[in-house]
Amino acid sequence: MPSFVNPEKCDGCKALDKTACQHICPNDLMVLNKDIEKAFNREPEMCWECYNCVKICPQGAVEMRGYADFVPLGATVTPMRGSDAIMWTVKFRNGQIKRFKFPIRTTPEGSAVPDGGFEAGSADLNSPLLFTEPASCGLPELPKLK
Ligand code: SF4
Ligand code: SF4
Repeated sequence: MPSFVNPEKCDGCKALDKTACQHICPNDLMVLNKDIEKAFNREPEMCWECYNCVKICPQGAVEMRGYADFVPLGATVTPMRGSDAIMWTVKFRNGQIKRFKFPIRTTPEGSAVPDGGFEAGSADLNSPLLFTEPASCGLPELPKLK
C-alpha cells in the first residue's frame, strides 16, 4: 500500500532545494508544496511501495498503511532506521502501539565494498560474461561450447 506524508510531522526538509523524499523516490512521486512547506505523494496509485521515502525521512513523517495480513486495516506502520537496526512502530486503530526492532546489517556501517573487491572497468563491456564472472562462479573460466 502506498506511502503518505503526515503533515503534522513534515517540516518540508527545512526548505532544501530538493527534499529527502523527493531525492530518494525512484518514481518521482514526492512533491513539495512550497506554500505550506509540506511534501505529499502526488500519485499514490503509482507508488512502487519501496518505502525508501519512509525510511529516509528525517522527521519520520512518511507513513504507510500495512497490508491486512501484516496489520489490521487502519493501522499505520512507521520505520525508524538506525545505523545497525530498524524499528517498526505499528499504531493500531484503537491507539495501541507495538514496536519491532530488526538488525539490518552484519558489517559495520561504511565498511561495505561496493564492487565486492572485483575489478570494475569498461574494458570488458563487450564481453558476454556478467560482472564478477567467472571468479564468482568459482571457476577459472566459464565453459565454452565446442
Ligand atoms: S523527507 Fe520527510 S520531512 Fe522532508 S519533505 Fe519529505 S516528508 Fe517532509
Ligand atoms: S514508497 Fe517508494 S515509490 Fe512510493 S512514494 Fe515512497 S519512494 Fe516513491
